[in-house]
Amino acid sequence: MLLGKQGAGKGTQASRLADHRGVPHFSTGDLFRAEAKEGTAHGLEAESYMNRGELVPDPVVVGVVEEQFRRGTFDGGFVLDGFPRTEFQAVELDRVLDGQPVDLVATLDVPTEIALARLAGRRVCENCGTVYHVDHPPKHDWTCDECGGNVIQREDDTEAAIERRLELYEREMLPIVQHYRRQRRLVVVDGVGTGDEVASRLAAAIEARVGPDVET
Ligand code: AMP
Repeated sequence: MLLGKQGAGKGTQASRLADHRGVPHFSTGDLFRAEAKEGTAHGLEAESYMNRGELVPDPVVVGVVEEQFRRGTFDGGFVLDGFPRTEFQAVELDRVLDGQPVDLVATLDVPTEIALARLAGRRVCENCGTVYHVDHPPKHDWTCDECGGNVIQREDDTEAAIERRLELYEREMLPIVQHYRRQRRLVVVDGVGTGDEVASRLAAAIEARVGPDVET
């Protein structure tokens, strides 16, 4: 499980890690964005909170996560990204996992000024979610290199919503960090540096705890 403030590189690292380990990458934010685009009831409810930078209410979030576990999506393992975001969600996750705690909770540590700069320049593919930055745009005219989708600025990457999200993060994350520290599952990984540097730090932390990945 990856934790870290917005702009810490959680989504990018979670996706790399999931590919590397051959398990699903589950991001509650991506799921809500996809559902909002499809216009499902959950998606539309979530969208109003997301656009303001507020957290989606716990029962909605826990409901969608539990549904994925029930469907067996995570039977072979998983990388969780953006969940849990509240202590209630962390306690509910323990219940859903039914006595089989997550292997490792890694928090990506990045100073707020760096996170802010990353977020303000962040652009994402509205189709597949690939992340770019104004300093590292796609090759052709804001068209995604991976899927050809439109690369746009997320509605909640505005200055006001970013500030609100970072403020909420500080408040909500502390009890979660303590929850996993008590379970001795938490490692802090330095999230400053290139994607490759952070990925290799993360891989080393995981290997030390959980053992080598499937390919080695
Ligand atoms: P993210 O893509 O992880 O930055 O999430 C984008 C937005 O989705 C957040 O600002 C929240 O509005 C909502 N969201 C995602 N995951 C959760 C969660 N676990 N609990 C509550 N809201 C969430």
